[in-house]
Amino acid sequence: MLARAPIRLRLTLWYVLLLAIILAAFAAGVYLLLRHSLYQNLDESVQSRAGALVNVVQLDDAEASLTIRAGSVTSGQRERFIRLFDAAGDVRFVETSGEHQIPVDRWAVSAALAGRPTTRSTRYIDDDDRIRVAVVPVVRQGAVVGALEVGEPEEDVVETLSSLLLVMGIAYPVALALAGFGGMFLAGRALSPIDSITTAARDITAEDLSGRLELRLPDDEVGRLARTFDEMIARLDDAFRRQRQFAADASHELRTPLTVIKGQIDVSLQRDREPEAYQGVLRAVNEEVDRLIRLAGSLLTLTRADGGQIPLAFEAVDVGDLVAGVVEQLRPAAADQGVDLRLDTGPPVTMEADQDLLIQLMLNVLDNAIKYSPNGGLVNAGWGTNGQRVELRVRDTGPGIAAEDIPYVFDRFYRADKARSRAAGGVGLGLAISRWIAEAHGGSIHVVSTLGEGSTFTVSLPTSRS
Ligand code: ADP
Repeated sequence: MLARAPIRLRLTLWYVLLLAIILAAFAAGVYLLLRHSLYQNLDESVQSRAGALVNVVQLDDAEASLTIRAGSVTSGQRERFIRLFDAAGDVRFVETSGEHQIPVDRWAVSAALAGRPTTRSTRYIDDDDRIRVAVVPVVRQGAVVGALEVGEPEEDVVETLSSLLLVMGIAYPVALALAGFGGMFLAGRALSPIDSITTAARDITAEDLSGRLELRLPDDEVGRLARTFDEMIARLDDAFRRQRQFAADASHELRTPLTVIKGQIDVSLQRDREPEAYQGVLRAVNEEVDRLIRLAGSLLTLTRADGGQIPLAFEAVDVGDLVAGVVEQLRPAAADQGVDLRLDTGPPVTMEADQDLLIQLMLNVLDNAIKYSPNGGLVNAGWGTNGQRVELRVRDTGPGIAAEDIPYVFDRFYRADKARSRAAGGVGLGLAISRWIAEAHGGSIHVVSTLGEGSTFTVSLPTSRS
């Protein structure tokens, strides 16, 4: 049942319980210590009084009896009770400042007559008050001739102890109640930001992730929770926004070729045409369909990559073979474009990578370099290594990329030059896929470019998986 109670109540209950145990242990310690020392004082007082009185006991040799001067020991002194026993254990003298007698303890008298002093607590015969009693031997010329019993009431000790108990009995529940209220208040204060977080979080929905808690809290556990929550919502907001943007861009990209196809078909259906005209339309439609297929393929790759559904098949890849293979594959395209494509052979190196994905990365980058280069342009593909990392490089003498576009060329659907990209058959996803492939290998891709002079794309990859 307690597990369901609010944290505030649970914290306070635990706190009060702990405090109750500590206070009880502390109070018991104080009580026992005080009791011990009060009784020790009383004992010392009774014993020293008895010791002093033993010296004034007189031994009458003729009658072989003991006497002690009456009145000299009780008036103005704290002793309330004196009793004198002779060597046979018979009572010789009794004097009390009050009205009550105390019972004779035969065992204590025998012990004193045997030379052993004792101290004990007892009660008056006809009264419930307690009295502390010492019985000491009376020694004359080396022999025990009697026993002297001296009593002092325990009243003071009992009173002191019971007032202490009373104070503790009142203070204990009051302290616990105060601690309970204080604990409740403090726990409430410490936990109130959590209520604010709950209320604010309830207002943040998937449709509108723009809300933030923005609670001005100190840098403690709850403050950090609120800030982490805000950061998480910011990341989600960003991811949702990008997802929406991606869907919008993808729809737009799909619509363009479909509009072109529709236009071509509409025009050709307006009247009868020569077979060559229909062939021309079909060729144009075919080109757009190719673009659609490429787009669908790229979209599929990126969506699966986002969902973590493309497992990387790592194997030993000969970098030289890979770059040379891609260069050979693109040689016809370069020839069509009138571009001089050169392979800059680097040092022999093997790396652990997903060969198919690396080929796709190289194809994207090299294909861009060729398709954006003007007739007569030069494209170099090469690589280098420092043992730890491999660098794949593609350099072209094409139009270059404006400085303000460079940060975005790896974004999805971003095109620095839309007309040129479309004319070259691009869908604006090649570099986004290339960046994903590089990062999936623990590497990176970047570009250095000057407008009008050309661009150099560099892919940096670790040689082995770590
Ligand atoms: P696209 O399909 O449009 O080529 P990419 O993602 O491959 O899409 O490239 C994004 C944009 O980066 C391109 O539209 C182009 O503007 C620019 N770009 C890429 N490579 C080069 C290059 N070698 N020279 C000049 N611009 C380039």
